[in-house]
Amino acid sequence: MKWAWRIGRFFGIDVSIHATFWLLLVFVGWSHWLQTQTAAGVIEGVAFVLTIFLCVLLHEYGHALTARRYGIGTKDIILLPIGGVARLEKIPDKPIQEFWVALAGPAVNVVIAAALLGWLMVSRTLAPAEQVTVTGGPFLERLLVTNVFLVVFNLLPAFPMDGGRVLRALLAMKLDYVRATRIAALLGQAVAVVFGIIGLFSNPLLILVAVFVWVGASQEAAAVQMRSAIGGVPVSLAMVREFRTLAPSDDLARAVQLILTGSQHDFPVVAGDQVTGILSRDALLLALAQQPQHTPVDRVMTREFVTADAQEPLEAAVQRLQGTPCHTMPVLHHGKLVGLITAENIGEFVMIQAALHQRGAQIVAQPPH
Ligand code: ZN
Repeated sequence: MKWAWRIGRFFGIDVSIHATFWLLLVFVGWSHWLQTQTAAGVIEGVAFVLTIFLCVLLHEYGHALTARRYGIGTKDIILLPIGGVARLEKIPDKPIQEFWVALAGPAVNVVIAAALLGWLMVSRTLAPAEQVTVTGGPFLERLLVTNVFLVVFNLLPAFPMDGGRVLRALLAMKLDYVRATRIAALLGQAVAVVFGIIGLFSNPLLILVAVFVWVGASQEAAAVQMRSAIGGVPVSLAMVREFRTLAPSDDLARAVQLILTGSQHDFPVVAGDQVTGILSRDALLLALAQQPQHTPVDRVMTREFVTADAQEPLEAAVQRLQGTPCHTMPVLHHGKLVGLITAENIGEFVMIQAALHQRGAQIVAQPPH
């Protein structure tokens, strides 16, 4: 993720902190300075935020280490001002595994809260409940309340909260995965609307949370729909078959002509049978601003691109495409260029699959040329 800095590696998982997180610390320090006008007040405020984020980090490790038990690795854990994210390499296949992975995070906060409560009771220092809120009262009591809040918030049965994953896992034991996700995502959007309305009349911060929840719910639904639409399908079914190519010696003027007379954005550059590069629209525009129009395209094209095989699973190809800056991927069959995979085409393919899915139909496969 951009703007995230690695702070360390624990249990074999990198932990990064997003740049905006430091802004949050500055903001908290500043507001405590305004309230207390003492350095001790500032340090206490900042220390409290850092302690909460330690609890959030432990929560994420709850997810990551449970996933590891099912053989699923974690790319990294990122701490953002709104909370943490453990980026699992994939979502568990079996609903029961997702159920436990999702539940393990909030379970960590339950343990922390119980330990704090136990300590406060044993040491007989527990403050009366009416003195304690998230923002006021003794340090440990506030930490206790915050952890309880984390449990309740995360267990709301709606995406993108952990509770949404728990709900999806439970629904997916009875329904198909896409429908289960859609229900959990719809609930997420309903929760977002409620947060937004409450936020309008009370705390504006809730509006921010509402936006975050809404976007998270929609993204999850879209990602699952995409995975289900392209799952089990070969590249050849979704590739663009009618396209133009450039020769390495063609000049920029020729590329301009092709862009203006067709709807293609990126062009494979082909020498003989071999794809030697890709000329993207962005690269072309950049070159037109700096170089004469008779410059050959092989001086401008990118040579760093990934290819797909017509027979390989579309899902794997799309994953590779998403990992590169190039939006177009040449598809080869026995080493020969037979098609292109583009982001737009995949988008269309997903929409068509969704429409067909409603009446249980499928795209009819065509044999490669
Ligand atoms: Zn969580």
